[in-house]
Amino acid sequence: MPKPSDFSFRLGTRLDGAHGRTGTIHTPHGDIQTPAYIPVGTKATVKAVLPEVVKDLGAQAVLSNAYHLYLQPGPELLDLHGGLSTFMNWPGPTFTDSGGFQVMSLGSGFKKVIDMTGPEAQGKVGSDDAVAPGKERLANVDHDGVWFTSHINGDRHRFTPEISMNIQHQLGADVMMAFDELTTLHNSRGYQVESLERTRGWAQRSLNEHANLTQRRADRPYQALYGVIQGAQYEDLRRKACQDLSAMRTDFDGTEAGFDGYGLGGAFEKENLGTIVGWCAEELPEDKPRHLLGISEPDDLFAAVEAGADTFDAVSPTRVARTGAFYTDHGRINLPRAQFARDLSPLQEGCDCYTCQHYSKAYIRHLIKGDEILSGTLLSIHNLRFTIRLVDTIRQTIIDGDFYEFKDHMLGRYYSK
Ligand SMILES: [Zn+2]
Repeated sequence: MPKPSDFSFRLGTRLDGAHGRTGTIHTPHGDIQTPAYIPVGTKATVKAVLPEVVKDLGAQAVLSNAYHLYLQPGPELLDLHGGLSTFMNWPGPTFTDSGGFQVMSLGSGFKKVIDMTGPEAQGKVGSDDAVAPGKERLANVDHDGVWFTSHINGDRHRFTPEISMNIQHQLGADVMMAFDELTTLHNSRGYQVESLERTRGWAQRSLNEHANLTQRRADRPYQALYGVIQGAQYEDLRRKACQDLSAMRTDFDGTEAGFDGYGLGGAFEKENLGTIVGWCAEELPEDKPRHLLGISEPDDLFAAVEAGADTFDAVSPTRVARTGAFYTDHGRINLPRAQFARDLSPLQEGCDCYTCQHYSKAYIRHLIKGDEILSGTLLSIHNLRFTIRLVDTIRQTIIDGDFYEFKDHMLGRYYSK
């Protein structure tokens, strides 16, 4: 049968004075040199970019969303293909999240549905049930799982830890996440405590079901399972979650085993990101990888790596590309601006990406103005390459011992506008 030993993490160089480190994650579909940025392919596609191109850009893995793939096309179809990697023609390692985030954020629509404008919400207390006027709560959490409403057609669906694990085993990614409850910074502390206890129980149930499925699906490559750390902005809750999930074990065909790694989830205020990841790095076992779920901008990458995150995903490189924006060493720039109408230079001088080798700003701006979809492809290629190259350089500076100099230099330039 597939064994947890088919997945491993080897520590490399430690960053002086912080929890950051380099390492190698070994999966059945290949190795990942960490720290690594993992592009997001929500529906088993990195939007508008061929998988061969994603590979050429230096991406080492892709993360897809269990919620989206469950609703459409359904996990059975991926299983029929032999899993996510074959289904999407991506030859490398893959990750899926648990679906918990989308069930609760798209289902209840935290930004759109929960009232974050009223006095209660602003006080961040007592707003657990605050729903904006005229809106309906679309996700209901109970002890056993979550009822939610599809954002596609309004159908009601049920996720439990067991259902999430069955879906993720069918999706077949190399790294899966335990089912967790997403809270927001607007929930009261009382609710965070209650929710964290529920997530702890769901983590154990996810681990148990994962062991069952691994034994039942013995012909499949081993899929690693990460426990997800919640606890919002509270130090004691984050540390307790790390301790609880580190100690958790289940029976794997006669052998006791725990989580293969840990996902750091939930709500972060940008300025607290490094602090929260740092608490977790102090509590979690050193020899297990840590994935930070969903970050965005270059300063977040430095903060996450420095504090001890090994991998992290972010939709922003492709999302901002589709709005006509691109990254440069001197900050993020909006290409539709009139000043670029006759600019024959590439997006960034010296960039080694396909887009910068072949196209001018004026041409890509012309595509945007003409609503041509190639603009999204060309800008996504540049933004993905920019982000991957940045994290590759961060990894090399940890090895070479000049991480802090590079960080000051890079962020000084990027935010100097
Ligand atoms: Zn480029």
